[in-house]
Amino acid sequence: MSREQLVVQQARKAFLTGRSKPLDFRTQQLKNLKRFITERQKEITDALKRDLNKSENATLFYELLGLEGEINLALSKLSEWAAPRPVTKNLLTISDEVFIQPEPLGVVLIIGAWNYPITVTLQPLVGAIAAGNAAVVKPSEVSVHTAKVMELLPLYLDPEMYPVVTGGVQETQELLKQRFDHIFYTGSSTVGKVVMKAAARHLTPVTLELGGKSPCYIDKDCDLKIACRRVTWGKYVNCGQTCIAPDYILCEPSIQNKVVEEIKKCIKEFYTEDPKTFRDYGRIINQRHFKRIMALIEDSTVAVGGENDESQCYIAPTVLKDVIPESKVMQEEIFGPVLPIVPVNGVNEAIQFINEREKPLVLYVFSSSKKVIKQILAETSSGGLLANDCLVHFTISDLPFGGVGKSGIGHYHGKYTFNQLSHLRSCLIKKLSMERVNQMRYPPHSVEKVRWARLLLLKQVNLGRWRQLAHAAMLAALAAFVIQVCVSFLLQIFLQG
Ligand code: NAD
Repeated sequence: MSREQLVVQQARKAFLTGRSKPLDFRTQQLKNLKRFITERQKEITDALKRDLNKSENATLFYELLGLEGEINLALSKLSEWAAPRPVTKNLLTISDEVFIQPEPLGVVLIIGAWNYPITVTLQPLVGAIAAGNAAVVKPSEVSVHTAKVMELLPLYLDPEMYPVVTGGVQETQELLKQRFDHIFYTGSSTVGKVVMKAAARHLTPVTLELGGKSPCYIDKDCDLKIACRRVTWGKYVNCGQTCIAPDYILCEPSIQNKVVEEIKKCIKEFYTEDPKTFRDYGRIINQRHFKRIMALIEDSTVAVGGENDESQCYIAPTVLKDVIPESKVMQEEIFGPVLPIVPVNGVNEAIQFINEREKPLVLYVFSSSKKVIKQILAETSSGGLLANDCLVHFTISDLPFGGVGKSGIGHYHGKYTFNQLSHLRSCLIKKLSMERVNQMRYPPHSVEKVRWARLLLLKQVNLGRWRQLAHAAMLAALAAFVIQVCVSFLLQIFLQG
């Protein structure tokens, strides 16, 4: 029996004991997860410095803050999320208990990517724990030092219920042979297909958080200074290795040079004259990706940056101009600090350009015109849409985060992760009385019975509304009583006087 097989068996055995179901257990595990990121902060920041040259503050800002927020939210909302959810009934079921009961799925496999290795691996785990599941955690082997720190996780969590499996492709493939109740994968579309194929063998549902080319349309009717500031931040943070980074810019030829100039100024402001020696500028994860990115810019015109150093996996913040759709850089997700500008003639051409390609994970638009923003919203499709900013939608737990089409399947964050990793069980609990009401459904069928069925089944009863009406009626009765008492009191005084 392989190590992976054993780990999954143990996780299933642990799940079947039922100990992950009580809310007290889930709460305790979530608190322990929080303790892991607090007590191991130094190890985590050191590891990310070594893997991606992330500064300590960048790790706190982009990795740990969001994770802590998700844990806090789950802790405060757990009893609400896990509680039975009442639904609107029809007349036939008016006296029954009808509700949705969220229940754990079982054993979840979480496969993380390397670019934000803590966030993309542990945020799904928050939802898995909150929903009462067991989970096998597989960090990316590419961010090797962070994966090592993740091995400490079982010191904090129930080790059988939440094991960590480290290793590479072989180990992931061995895990994928096992039967899970859900697979939550973050990474490239290519491996996404491998995951989905393996899942199909057991009919296991999947969440695929993938990537792709996220376009950014900059309208000429907009404050270019502000737009370029926000784009520069969104693009070059983590050295462009962000799944929701703007992949390329679409803008009119008349503003292209101004966009280049503004971005150039922002690069200097954010990362100094020499980003290579600046503490807040990252590195490409490894030489394979370094070579891949450098090959992408071969046939384009470099307008800003382009400097590089293979020995350090360093590529300067780079802007390419007059890029044509056929160029290499437009054939795949860049996932590096290279920002191509593709000239288009106005918003209609931009929309056409976007719609001719795969549905992106995010679509960015910068414009002062509400009309342009609304037109792009109405005429395109993407996982998310942001107007006049970059990345920040990721921070809102109430927004489902995920792709559509080739950019992903399913979504998460906050309650959405909880729902994604729960089975929403439909429940109806009836009494064995009132059998006369049920007569209309038993054969022999008649026109009369259909008439009754029409009334009983099609009439929706929203008990919430009835409750509101009852509440209003009670208040009105109370008010009438108070008025009556006051009037009789005044009358008494008046008569005595
Ligand atoms: P990666 O190489 O680390 O792969 C991700 C995981 O897949 C790893 O755990 C790895 O072990 C496993 N894996 C790799 N090859 C495999 C194979 N042949 N068979 C089975 N398992 C395999 O990460 P990556 O794919 O380079 O990640 C980058 C991609 O992830 C980008 O496309 C990016 O946009 C996307 N991404 C998406 C999100 C999101 O939330 N949507 C977040 C981060 C990254």
